[in-house]
Amino acid sequence: MSRKTFPQQTSVLIVGAGPAGLSAALALSRAGVDAVLIDARKRIGHPVRCAEMTHRLLFEILGVQPRPTWVRWVLGKSGLVVLNRPRLEEDLAGLCAEKGVGVFPETSLFGLSPFDGKGRKALVLHRGRAREVYAACVIAADGMASATARLAGLAAPLGPQKVASCAFQMITGAKPEQESNPFLGPLPSYPFPLFYFWALPQGRGRINAGILVPGMDGGRARFLLDRAIANTRAFSGGRPGKFHCGLLPLGGPLKRLVGDGILVTGTAARLVSVGGEGILPAAFSGREAARTVADHPGSSAEAQNLAAFPRRIKNLIDHYADGWNRVEKGMPLGKSPWETLDGKNLSRFQG
Ligand SMILES: Cc1cc2nc3c(=O)[nH]c(=O)nc-3n(C[C@H](O)[C@H](O)[C@H](O)COP(=O)(O)OP(=O)(O)OC[C@H]3O[C@@H](n4cnc5c(N)ncnc54)[C@H](O)[C@@H]3O)c2cc1C
Repeated sequence: MSRKTFPQQTSVLIVGAGPAGLSAALALSRAGVDAVLIDARKRIGHPVRCAEMTHRLLFEILGVQPRPTWVRWVLGKSGLVVLNRPRLEEDLAGLCAEKGVGVFPETSLFGLSPFDGKGRKALVLHRGRAREVYAACVIAADGMASATARLAGLAAPLGPQKVASCAFQMITGAKPEQESNPFLGPLPSYPFPLFYFWALPQGRGRINAGILVPGMDGGRARFLLDRAIANTRAFSGGRPGKFHCGLLPLGGPLKRLVGDGILVTGTAARLVSVGGEGILPAAFSGREAARTVADHPGSSAEAQNLAAFPRRIKNLIDHYADGWNRVEKGMPLGKSPWETLDGKNLSRFQG
C-alpha cells in the first residue's frame, strides 16, 4: 500500500486516514499534488468506532463510484446508507496509493515545529521508529483528540463537559419490524436529540444499537445501553455482540481552522452536528482543504494564503454552529439530529 521508504519531505502531510484524510488525499492526488498520508492505526479502517450511517452523497464528495462491498445496507429511499467503513477506508487508501500518495499506516504524529516561512517539520513514530518529515503544508485530519491541531495552537484539549460518550453493540438474529428505518429515540433524563438511543437495521437480522450520552456519564454507558436494548421489542431474540465505545466533541466547530502551514478538517475541526453526524462533514471539509492547497501551487502556505478554506465551507460551519448555539440557549432543534443528511442541504454548504 505504501511507498517503501518513509519520505523526508512532501508538499502536503495529511495526518489521519479517516473520511477527512482520505477525501483530502484523493483530491490532492487528482490535482497532481505530492502528498503523504499517515495514520496511527496498524490497518487503515480497522477497528471501526462508528455506527456508519451516512448519505450516499458521500461517494459524490469523494468522487468515487460506490462498490457494493462499501455499503452494508440501504435504508429505504431516503438516500441513507450504512457503510462498511473498514472496507471503504481500506479501498480508498489503496486508491490513493495507486495514484501516487505515500500511504503509511502505523505512523503517529507526536510533534510539530512552528512554521518557518516555507513549511513545518513533523515528528512521527513510524512502525516504532522516530522520523522527521518536512511538509510545506499539513492537513490535520486526526479526529476527536487531534494532536496536530493542538500542537499548532488551534485547539485546546476538551474537558469531560465538552465530549459525548458513544457505546454500541451489533445485535444478530433479531427481527426488526422496519428493516429500512433507522430508529432514534430519547433516553430517560437526557435532552433529546442531543443524547439518544439508536437502532440501525443492517439487513439479515443485524441491528447496530447504540447510545450517545454526556461524557461525564461514560462510565454508565454500558448499563444504559443494556437497559435500552432490554426494553426494545425489536431486539427480542437477538444476540448482542462485542461492546464498542468512542467519543465525540460537543459544542461546535473550532474558531480557527487554519494557521501558518496548517488546515484542520473533519472531527479534528469539531465539524460534528448536534447528534453526532461526522462522516459527511469530514469528507466535505477534507476535500475542500485539499482544493484550497491545490489552488495555490508553489505559493507559501501562510495562513493568509489558506484563508479560502473556511470560506469554502462557511455554510457548513454556520449551520453546525447554529445548531450548537440553539442547544446552549435551550432553543428547539430541527426535527432530527441527522438533518444535514440530505442532498439539498449539502449543496447549500458549498461556499
Ligand atoms: C460510536 C460512534 C458512532 C458514530 N456514528 C456515526 C454515524 O453513524 N454517522 C456519522 O456521520 N458519524 C458518526 N460518528 C462520528 C464519525 O465517526 C466521525 O465524525 C468521523 O469518523 C470523522 O472523520 P475524520 O476523518 O474527521 O476522523 P476519524 O474517522 O476519527 O479519523 C481520524 C484518524 O486519525 C488517526 N489519528 C489520530 N491521531 C493520530 C496521530 N497523532 N497521528 C496519525 N494518525 C492519527 C486515527 O487513527 C483515525 O484513523 C460516530 C462516532 C462514534 C464515536
